Amino acid sequence: MVNSTKERGYAKWLRTLNDLVSSSGEAGTLKVLSPFNNRILGHAPISSDQDVEKAFVSARAAQKSWSARPVEERQAVADRFGKLVLQNRKRLLDLVQAETGKSRSAGFEEVVDLVLWANFVYRKSHVALAEDRVPGALPILTQTHVRRVPWGVVGVITPWNYPLTLPGTDSLPALVAGNSVVLKPDSLTPYSALAIVSLLYEAGVPKDVLQVVVGSGSTVGEMLTDRADYVVFTGSTATGRGIGVKCAERLIEHSAELGGKNPLVVLADANVDAAVNGAVQACFSNTGQLCISIERIYVVENHWDQFVPRFVAATKKLRIGAGYDWRTDVGSLISKNQLEKVSHHVTDAARGGAKVLAGGVARPDLGPFFYEPTVLADVTPEMEVYGEETFGPVVSLYKVPTDEDAIRAANDTTYGLNASVWGGLSAQGRAQQMQAGTVNVNDGYGAAWASYGAPMGGMKHSGVGRRHGLGGISKYTQQQTIAHQHLVPVSGPRWVPHKTWSRVLTVAAKAMRSLP
Ligand code: NAD
Repeated sequence: MVNSTKERGYAKWLRTLNDLVSSSGEAGTLKVLSPFNNRILGHAPISSDQDVEKAFVSARAAQKSWSARPVEERQAVADRFGKLVLQNRKRLLDLVQAETGKSRSAGFEEVVDLVLWANFVYRKSHVALAEDRVPGALPILTQTHVRRVPWGVVGVITPWNYPLTLPGTDSLPALVAGNSVVLKPDSLTPYSALAIVSLLYEAGVPKDVLQVVVGSGSTVGEMLTDRADYVVFTGSTATGRGIGVKCAERLIEHSAELGGKNPLVVLADANVDAAVNGAVQACFSNTGQLCISIERIYVVENHWDQFVPRFVAATKKLRIGAGYDWRTDVGSLISKNQLEKVSHHVTDAARGGAKVLAGGVARPDLGPFFYEPTVLADVTPEMEVYGEETFGPVVSLYKVPTDEDAIRAANDTTYGLNASVWGGLSAQGRAQQMQAGTVNVNDGYGAAWASYGAPMGGMKHSGVGRRHGLGGISKYTQQQTIAHQHLVPVSGPRWVPHKTWSRVLTVAAKAMRSLP
């Protein structure tokens, strides 16, 4: 059972978070509900057109002095922020569970992600943002530096599925790189984002440098895309495509982390028990509402008869329910829309002849949007679940004759976000054949995601650009080359005839080519 006393106890905190929204109050409020029980958690103020305009004006003005501070000062914010997230982890977990209906362990993934990425940003930003000295046009006579200049105001647009971590992990490197940020969280989950923003202020980010605007994608989101100097978007492929078009029209850069229909492959030399355990976690964590979670499993036929019953049994054992403790494995879906989409994918598949091996039913007895972890077999290409992202606790199993067939089928999709390969000696080579931005060998998704030094993002229709790694910090800057010429111009001294100067340059070019 959910503890509604806990939800009531946080009402005062949520009212103070409302003060952090850039809003005059004239555009009204939106109701924020808890998916656990559909009770109202709070009323968040909506930002009017004028409020968004004002947020950009003050963010732009504040950015100049913020970017003039030494990078070490901004890095120290990342360090303090990580500590504050750890100190506040219990109430952050309560809040993100109340706002999304997720299990406590899924909420904890968000908290630990914030802490570890903040640590990476704290330790590595000076490297990612360092000025480079490069060989100049003429040896000794040209001194060339490449600087990293912040874009100005970065627009951050985030979805509801990881509402604590994404606003924080996208805004933090943008801020440390010297930008201001205008953040638009999803309307279903503004309070998780506001809680993170309150900690960023406490860690030392000036109020005007980080602004939060609340409202729908089609109003506030579009205004943000029309005004920002760089946009970082996480959400669906359809919305991402529209944002990409707008950014192209404005000739501004952007990065986008989009949807996936992620495959898991059980190779002929895999350890079946390990693959079963890993697959259950990778399919149903965060109730399957995770861009990198697994929705398709390809099992090479030598393992099929063992894998399927063990996987189905492990799925049926998952503890599903509402609660602010650690006892459940799978929480609620976020909303009626999500419940309808998930139910539709399963009924469409069953109607077309797919077998439902586990789940396949909603659980209104547990809460309004609960749906059982579901395993399908005999799924065929005309069924919606075959190629479309479900973004819920539904996975389809496919038997394939060989490893090659498994890889070919796994790659047969327009998406390319994450993939998981289970196997022995063959797995490393097979991993390289997967068309996905991250490939986890003998893990579902966590190994690649939590390797913070490595880039993370989508191939094909799953994204543009990457987060994480040094590039996940430096992308918040544009490069500026400053070349300082001494004594002799590159085009040659005026008193030297063109022909003579061209001979000098030819000798120099030959010498440079012969350098090791
Ligand atoms: P969505 O695209 O509908 O919304 C995401 C955000 O974009 C929200 O804040 C929304 O208000 C805003 N938005 C909507 N229309 C907009 C517009 N025209 N202009 C500007 N902003 C707009 O996505 P969703 O349904 O909320 O989230 C689920 C999707 O996100 C899934 O497809 C999932 O795979 C994807 N996702 C991807 C990652 C990743 O890292 N690749 C992470 C989380 C979620």
